[in-house]
Amino acid sequence: MSNTKGYAAYSPSEDLKPYDFDRREIGPMDVKIKIDYCGVCHSDIHTAHNDWGMSQYPIVPGHEIIGHVIEVGPSVTKFKQGDLVGVGCLVDSCGECPSCKDHLEQFCENGMVMTYGSPDPIMGGVTHGGYSTQIVVTEAFVLKVSEKLDTKAVAPLLCAGITTYSPLMHWKVGKGQKVGIIGLGGLGHMGVKFAAALGAHVVMITTSPEKGKDAMHLGANEVLLSKDEEQMKAHAGSFDFLLNTVPVKHDLNPYIPLLKVGKTMVVLGATPVDLHTMGIIFGRKNIAGSLIGGLKETQEMLDFCAEHDIVSDIEMIKMEDINQAWDRVIKGDVKYRFVIDMKDF
Ligand code: NAP
Ligand code: ZN
Repeated sequence: MSNTKGYAAYSPSEDLKPYDFDRREIGPMDVKIKIDYCGVCHSDIHTAHNDWGMSQYPIVPGHEIIGHVIEVGPSVTKFKQGDLVGVGCLVDSCGECPSCKDHLEQFCENGMVMTYGSPDPIMGGVTHGGYSTQIVVTEAFVLKVSEKLDTKAVAPLLCAGITTYSPLMHWKVGKGQKVGIIGLGGLGHMGVKFAAALGAHVVMITTSPEKGKDAMHLGANEVLLSKDEEQMKAHAGSFDFLLNTVPVKHDLNPYIPLLKVGKTMVVLGATPVDLHTMGIIFGRKNIAGSLIGGLKETQEMLDFCAEHDIVSDIEMIKMEDINQAWDRVIKGDVKYRFVIDMKDF
């Protein structure tokens, strides 16, 4: 009999459907977690739809997991039964390579194990994520979560939070800088909150005029409509940093003139883009990427959020309503992250 209930994608074109499967028996270093909440990331949809050409089916998405520890292996030291914990996009890595030693497990040179969609070294097939009732994870990849915050709204920090926090830290965003966040969705709304908390002057760069008020409420100082050429011209050459969260193929060229000489736009969406190099040659500008964050930085981000009272703005859904929720994410109709109530499943 299967020990875990979930929802899986069975092919790129079908709706998600119920799927029962087995989690592994807990090993000495493992923590078994009863999942309370799981956030809905646009990457879940990319994976289910095979946008990156490497999906295997069936696959249970979900990498913004909050839950309670229900059992620990005999060698586990950091956690005990009853602890509130989180699991993000990674569940293992080699621990030996230069990236792992540098706390950058997301760049493990021997291949990190993603929470869903990686070959499962123990159970075979692929790993399965948080659209499910429980998960077993080695303790080094489990995060401590403060009881102080609204735990439902903490779930999206495990991906949307760390993915925006990490580049803001790496490129040292802070006071005295003008920072643009492109795209007000799950990642974008966390980018606005973090950039504001770090003291930057934050400009929400959006295609949706109706989101302007929300952006200001989230912490933006200004709103810039990217489709309005006059507004874009007025901001030319004024940004110290741009964080681009657009999830679909798009044209980068209109954003490049916004940067000051020598400054950087970080792209987070794994998607093709159009770029004419003229825009970056003139002004020695940089386009960079960034992938989630390592475990140490993810814990730092969660601690920063507890200290600054930062959580995600969420809409709760039931597991059965996931397909309608995905349709709304694709249409950009989400404020600003769906979270699945797994307690109810
Ligand atoms: P999301 O909630 O769907 O938000 C994306 C936002 O981008 C939309 O709300 C919309 O904001 C804007 N947008 C959509 N289509 C656009 C277009 N054609 N042109 C310009 N703007 C457009 O998605 P998300 O969950 O934040 O994820 C964003 C991307 O990051 C996805 O591709 C996801 O896979 C990727 N991701 C990357 C990492 C990483 O580690 N690098 C981690 C997690 C997710 P406006 O209405 O404001 O324009
Ligand atoms: Zn994600």
